[in-house]
Amino acid sequence: MKQVQVLDKTFTTYITKVEISERINAIAKELNERYSHKKPMFIAVLNGAFLFASEIFAQFEHPAEISFVKVASYHGTESSGELKTLIGLNSAIHGRDLIIIEDIIDTGKTFHELLPNIHAQNPASIAIVSLLVKPEALKYPVKADYVGFEIPNKFVVGYGLDYDGYGRNLPEIYQIVSE
Ligand code: 5GP
Ligand code: MG
Repeated sequence: MKQVQVLDKTFTTYITKVEISERINAIAKELNERYSHKKPMFIAVLNGAFLFASEIFAQFEHPAEISFVKVASYHGTESSGELKTLIGLNSAIHGRDLIIIEDIIDTGKTFHELLPNIHAQNPASIAIVSLLVKPEALKYPVKADYVGFEIPNKFVVGYGLDYDGYGRNLPEIYQIVSE
């Protein structure tokens, strides 16, 4: 087991580069089959999903677009507290087959808040692709259509995922040793 230090925390190898590549190949194959007669629009959610999204997109063999969006938090009405919205979705998504690419679904709050806005713009279909899902942490009824790995409720970094901005360039996925 290889250990790495990111800022003040220690992490240990959890998912290898080979395992990540194998899952990406398998998901890309499914997308290539399902969307062979569509012109989907990939939506990569920055920052965490940028590496994952680029590898998935690079393996897509049919006409497709990609758009990069960011989740921004804002304060809604007094009672609802912080809400999330998507910024950067500048192309029309009405009637489009959307493939949303995320790095990780933790509580599901992000998607739970984003999906109604996306649905409201009447896309033809929505598929969620998430590299990682933490089933034990899920608090909202969000289900990814394509999942790289289901992982326990422990903090991970690497392959795009950060700890306070660092660790995104680690080629493998690392799990925290102790919180
Ligand atoms: P959710 O809204 O599903 O609770 O949270 C999703 C977001 O939380 C992810 O997009 C990611 O930014 C962050 N997150 C949740 N768990 C982890 C983790 O283990 N590692 C990292 N780096 N980010 C996480
Ligand atoms: Mg994310």
